[in-house]
Amino acid sequence: SKSEGNYEPKIFSLSRHEELTQSNTLALEIKSSLKEGNFCIYLQPKVDRNGTTLGAEALVRWHHPTRGLLSPADFLEQAEENNLIIEIGQTVLEKACEMLQKWQSHAAFSELTIAVNLSARQIWQKDFIDKIMHTINSHGINTKKLTLEVTESILIEDIKGTIEKLNYLKSLGISISLDDFGTGYSSLNYLHQFPIDEIKIDKSFVSDITSNKNTAIITRSIIGLAQSFNLNIVAEGVENKEELSFLSQHGVSIFQGYYFSRPLSIEHFEHKLNKREHL
Ligand code: C2E
Ligand code: CA
Ligand code: CA
Ligand code: CA
Repeated sequence: SKSEGNYEPKIFSLSRHEELTQSNTLALEIKSSLKEGNFCIYLQPKVDRNGTTLGAEALVRWHHPTRGLLSPADFLEQAEENNLIIEIGQTVLEKACEMLQKWQSHAAFSELTIAVNLSARQIWQKDFIDKIMHTINSHGINTKKLTLEVTESILIEDIKGTIEKLNYLKSLGISISLDDFGTGYSSLNYLHQFPIDEIKIDKSFVSDITSNKNTAIITRSIIGLAQSFNLNIVAEGVENKEELSFLSQHGVSIFQGYYFSRPLSIEHFEHKLNKREHL
C-alpha cells in the first residue's frame, strides 16, 4: 500500500538520470567497438528437411571489451534508439559480403546463400541503395546469393519510397525475405504490396505448433497464403523433430533452429561444413 512507499525496492528501478547515463555509456562503447572491429557475425544454417545446409543467416554479436560476447538482446534496442544500428548493420553487411566473396571460390561453399537482417532505419537512409551497391561491387559478389531480411516495421514510414528501394534491390538480383511473419498486426495488408521472395514464420509460432491447436491452424494458414503468393517459406526456431515433421508435412521446405544448429562462429560453421563434405 501507499503507506509502505518508503520500502519500495527502488534499487531495482533506475532513475531517468541513471538510465540516460547507462545508455550514453553504451553508445560510447558501441562507437569505440565499431572502430576497433569488435562486432562480428555468427552464422546459423538454413537447411532443407534432410539437414543439408543451403545457406546461413548472419546474426550480429559484440565482443564487448569487458562483458564478453553479447547478443542483440543486450544492445540492439539502444543501438536502434541512437541510430548506431545503421553503422552496426553496415558492418554486418560488409562481413557477410566478405564471406560470400571468400566462399565463391570454394567448391563446398560456392552455392551457399547469406541472409542479412536489415533495420528499418538503414533502409530509410537516403544513401541506403548507394551503400549497398558500393558494398556489393567492392566485393564482387553474386547478388543471387544475398538475401536481405526485413520486417514490416520498414513500412511505418514512406511506404512508397521503401517499396521502390526494395524493387531496386530485387532488380539487382538480391532476394527479399519478410522476417517475423505473422507477428505484426497487419501482415496480410502488406503481403501483396511487398516485393518479397520469402517469408519467415516466426519462432513464436513454431514453438507452439505441436502443443497449441490454434497456433497449428494459424501456421497452416500462413503457409497456404505464402504458397498462393508463390513465396519461399522458411520456419525459424525449429527445436525438435515433431516441429520439423509438422512443418514439412504442411509445405515448409527451409528450416532454421537449434534442432539443426545454433548460430556458430564463422570458423565453426566452416569447420562443420567441411567435415560434412568428407562424410
Ligand atoms: P531474428 O532475425 O528473428 O533471428 C532469430 C533469433 O532466434 C536469433 O537470435 C537466433 O539465434 C535465435 N534462434 C535461432 N534458432 C532458435 C531456436 O531454435 N530456438 C530459439 N529459442 N531461438 C533460436 P539472436 O541472434 O539473439 O538475434 C535476435 C534478433 O536480433 C534477431 O531476430 C534480429 O531481429 C536481430 N538481429 C540479429 N542480428 C542483426 C543484425 O545484424 N541487424 C539487425 N538489424 N538485427 C539483427
Ligand atoms: Ca532474421
Ligand atoms: Ca524472429
Ligand atoms: Ca515446442
